[in-house]
Amino acid sequence: MTDIMKQLSLKGKNALITGGNRGIGRSIGLAMAQAGANIAIMDLNSDDAGKTIDDIKALGVKSVFYAGDVTMAENCNQVVSELIKDFGKIDILVNNAGICKNVKAEEMTWKDWYDVINVNLNGVFLMSQAAGREMIRNKSGSIINISSMSANIVNYPQPQCSYNASKAGVSHLTRSLAYEWVKYNIRVNAIAPGYIGTDLTRAQLSTEWGKIWQDATPMKRVGKPEELGGIAVYLASDASSFTTGSIMTVDGGYTTI
Ligand code: NDP
Repeated sequence: MTDIMKQLSLKGKNALITGGNRGIGRSIGLAMAQAGANIAIMDLNSDDAGKTIDDIKALGVKSVFYAGDVTMAENCNQVVSELIKDFGKIDILVNNAGICKNVKAEEMTWKDWYDVINVNLNGVFLMSQAAGREMIRNKSGSIINISSMSANIVNYPQPQCSYNASKAGVSHLTRSLAYEWVKYNIRVNAIAPGYIGTDLTRAQLSTEWGKIWQDATPMKRVGKPEELGGIAVYLASDASSFTTGSIMTVDGGYTTI
């Protein structure tokens, strides 16, 4: 009989989480650490780097912080080679770093458009390529992209066309890499969250927008970052050995109605 708890364990595996210092990335790091994985975090800003690293180390695994920008190919390659020096091998990559700009299409500057596409889509490709090259050498790996329900629906009432387009790109890049890298035993999946209470959404939650978001969600609330930990551990683990190219929706029912 299959030992499901053993399959779900990440003991001895090494994970790299972009944007892992706060919000959804931090919760995924803590969940994967509880499942036994060593956690490396890559983040733009290292000012408050210690907090999440210390909380992860308190769970009895190794944890390191690397400052880096996912939009810079050389930063992505550098972080992966530092991780190999520190941990020996990369087993799991979580492409979580992301930004959103709520600007009307007709008023959007090229920079506003480009910044969002650059972090959310180009960053996922560059980091996947850097980690993927190592995983190809190892003939093993699991890549988890944090897409969004915005890949499939148009959020309202706020304007965010660059974000929605970037996440549609992330979901289809997920399927494309899953196909290309299946022969190397690398699985590539995505999580598509609905509204989650983090720094990205917090300022709006008490406004009219936040009310509309919660009313449109059958569960009548936004999700907590911790509510994405279980699915991330599953996708990283051997329990999902037949799962690749999948987009897992976790949205309180938002996209079902
Ligand atoms: P937060 O704003 O709380 O955190 C974003 C993280 O990304 C920060 O740690 C930030 O680093 C990091 N980051 C931003 N740009 C870069 C970059 N260029 N290089 C490296 N790191 C970077 O956001 P969330 O936790 O809410 O979002 C995480 C992911 O989940 C995003 O991809 C988002 O699109 C997605 N998502 C979020 C939803 C939500 O409702 N919150 C819903 C659906 C998807 P720093 O701290 O240094 O600025």
